Amino acid sequence: MDYDVVVVGAGPAGCLAAKYAAKNGAKTLLIEEHASIGSPVQCAGLLSTSAIRECEVVLDSGFHPITGAFVYAPNGRRIRISGGEIKAYVVDRRIFDRTLAENAIRSGADILMRTRAVGITIDKEARGRGRRRILHVLIEGEPDVIEADVVIGADGIQSRIARWAGLDTPETVLSGAQVSTIYDFEDPRFVEIFPGSCAPGFFAWAIPYHGSARIGLAVRPISGSVPVAKSGVDLGPGVMQESAWAHLKRLIAKHPVVSEKCDPGIAGIALGGIPISVPQQTAAEGLLIVGDAAGQVKPTSGGGVYPGAMCAKIAGKVAADAVLEGDTSVRRLSEYDKLWKGRIGRELAIGRRINGWMARISDSEINRVIGVLDDDELLDLITRYGDMDHPSVVVRKLLMNRKSMGAFLKMALMR
Ligand SMILES: Cc1cc2nc3c(=O)[nH]c(=O)nc-3n(C[C@H](O)[C@H](O)[C@H](O)COP(=O)(O)OP(=O)(O)OC[C@H]3O[C@@H](n4cnc5c(N)ncnc54)[C@H](O)[C@@H]3O)c2cc1C
Repeated sequence: MDYDVVVVGAGPAGCLAAKYAAKNGAKTLLIEEHASIGSPVQCAGLLSTSAIRECEVVLDSGFHPITGAFVYAPNGRRIRISGGEIKAYVVDRRIFDRTLAENAIRSGADILMRTRAVGITIDKEARGRGRRRILHVLIEGEPDVIEADVVIGADGIQSRIARWAGLDTPETVLSGAQVSTIYDFEDPRFVEIFPGSCAPGFFAWAIPYHGSARIGLAVRPISGSVPVAKSGVDLGPGVMQESAWAHLKRLIAKHPVVSEKCDPGIAGIALGGIPISVPQQTAAEGLLIVGDAAGQVKPTSGGGVYPGAMCAKIAGKVAADAVLEGDTSVRRLSEYDKLWKGRIGRELAIGRRINGWMARISDSEINRVIGVLDDDELLDLITRYGDMDHPSVVVRKLLMNRKSMGAFLKMALMR
């Protein structure tokens, strides 16, 4: 098999990279190790309206609309943030990802399911600017090779493509756990958010989806190492005190708000890592990485579909252009690094700073922050400028507001 571009992994990032490589004239193949797209689900499925637009998916009656959020302080006080209009949708990622794969096929990409990349080498015989890649695969268990001018690694959080290419993988990875169950939502168009020690370093969530709920949380490892999210046990020097799963079980059983509203019966469990830092480089000789593989995730919300989709479209186009120009060297492909960092690099960097702050503040400080924000003028400001994909905008507005800034400064001085 011989292709211009081969994309490894048919998640949202891989499907959109394949779509854009094919659309821009490259003979493209998308491979996926599983027998069905979007499974197993490791996602709450909460996508902003801009994320859905970025994915170029038509709104579907199956999408569950969200118009606002209740944010609960650890002391039980809550604020209501609502703009009245639909801000986001909750989707079924199995259906959503399949739609993205079909869109890639429609644009001309070939697809091979049950095909796992097991190694990658460089074709040493080939000449020219940028040598060809040889991808070693197992197709339905049978070894085979696929040649390509450019390989795009969209193989998720544990990206082996990145490691084989000598690229760094994201350093900071949150550990996430989620269950599907029944929950007594006061308003099924509102998500519920619980920051604080119930989910150290991040937050817990309750997300409605057509009469059922996704209850989950993510926790931040105390230091360094990548958590082994699937087993719920974290190894290595950055040992976590407790796994995300242990925190989630406690949230459901004991949290004063969640335990009252959540049915203990669980219809599904999803465990997974959420990368919140980006590697220095996302391009190598004849190779790019996108999506979770490249840490393209919003550190404030853990949402990876929107930034991954945006970057994947850039990756697909840069790969196709490079192939058609006959130059797939790392220098040529680094255009991708520049372009995607130009689009969202700053927002992700600000998000990492906000996440770092979230990791440091105590329950009593969160209580005070929620107390300050529970004010008509500030809630109106949050409603007007709050954007789940660009949280820096509302943070800047709050820091410029005399009322909130004064209160935050006072808190900082009291630390
Ligand atoms: C608990 C939890 C909740 C989340 N909730 C949200 C949310 O509400 N909204 C949001 O935007 N994001 C959310 N995320 C993050 C989101 O799920 C990811 O950011 C997103 O799925 C990343 O897309 P991707 O295409 O980069 O990778 P993935 O979706 O992980 O896709 C990678 C694909 O590559 C395939 N693959 C891997 N290795 C190989 C190989 N060697 N050969 C072939 N195929 C391979 C995998 O099977 C998989 O299909 C959540 C994450 C977690 C853990």
